[in-house]
Amino acid sequence: MTDKLTDIDEIAAACSDCGTCLSACPVYNTRWMEPDSPRGKVNLIKALRDGRLEPGDLNKEFIYRCMLCGSCQHICTKGVDFTGMMIDYRNTASRGRKIPILKKIILYFYQSFLFKNLSGLADILARTPLKKQFSIPRRRPAKLKKIMTDAKGQKEKQYDILLFPGCVLTYFYPEIIEKTYTLLKQKGFSVVMPKKLQCCGYSFISQGWGKKFFSLREKNTAVFSQYNYKYLVVPCCTGVTAFKDYYDLKNIEIYELTEFFYKFIKDAAVDVERFTTTKELGKKRRVTWHDPCHHLKLLGLGAAPRFFMEQLGESFIDDKSALCCGFGGIFSVGFPVTSKQIFQRKEAKLEELEVDTVVTACPGCYLQLRERLSPGKEVLFFSDIFLHSR
Ligand code: SF4
Ligand code: SF4
Repeated sequence: MTDKLTDIDEIAAACSDCGTCLSACPVYNTRWMEPDSPRGKVNLIKALRDGRLEPGDLNKEFIYRCMLCGSCQHICTKGVDFTGMMIDYRNTASRGRKIPILKKIILYFYQSFLFKNLSGLADILARTPLKKQFSIPRRRPAKLKKIMTDAKGQKEKQYDILLFPGCVLTYFYPEIIEKTYTLLKQKGFSVVMPKKLQCCGYSFISQGWGKKFFSLREKNTAVFSQYNYKYLVVPCCTGVTAFKDYYDLKNIEIYELTEFFYKFIKDAAVDVERFTTTKELGKKRRVTWHDPCHHLKLLGLGAAPRFFMEQLGESFIDDKSALCCGFGGIFSVGFPVTSKQIFQRKEAKLEELEVDTVVTACPGCYLQLRERLSPGKEVLFFSDIFLHSR
């Protein structure tokens, strides 16, 4: 593996314009325009930096019409750290001022007091025509408070795991956090989930809103330092990317959830019978794994979930295409049409494979697949595949 290149001059010098990355890019494969491709963006940013192009509205749109999925750098043989370059450019050249206004409003709202406390707003929006355009989940009543812990008196205690729940699961699918927390405890780990954790901030730094990101990072880092634990476990590959690449947590062992299971709980019992019985469908369920982009392409964790999925035998249908689901967090808000078109490619693949159940481990992919796939398809989170007793 070549060393990562993030500096635009180094990237431009290394990029041979070979175009290998084009075939991997979900945005390019939907829009077929060179500036929408990774290679096109390298050349666009270089031209903007050199002053050969003016930073007008159209160029701003091209800069933001990238999901930061990492598919291009996963395939590039020159070691171009494309997502690093894009984040760097959005945070330096545009310094957040050029974030499209709709995205800025959503980002602001996302972390606001209003969002956290106005229970039911997502429910209302999910019943409007907006639901057709955006993946809006129904908000579930959160019962997480009873398993979350205040920092007071914690310094004397020692835990195995600090579980970082992340925003999407906390707000919309808290039952997944409860299940994950219980599973880890049942396997003998002591787990703490602090009350004051914030969003990891990736949505902000990825859009060029560095100031907001740094304030979230400071708050989370302060919370992390109030507890004693061996491992930071994160059921979100994007969160892991944020912690590894944009936090200073060198002394903390960070694990994405599937990676933690693969390393420490290989004997966790998969509920094989539930997936292989013919009782419900009159045939064996066909179950696939959806590779979240950051999980596979940035963290290289494809083997971990497959170790468990393969225990389903013939019921496991391995979708090696690793097609993106089209969510990309705030990308789906800024570019709903492109997001939907990317999703439709994924949906067609699932139809072709005739799968009944899709399992994934990224809260964003889970939301997108669950809210967009036809009701006949079951969508599960990684923690759901294990036998679980209350
Ligand atoms: S694959 Fe790498 S070297 Fe080739 S065009 Fe894309 S970024 Fe450039
Ligand atoms: S990060 Fe993803 S969306 Fe952006 S250019 Fe690369 S492949 Fe395309």
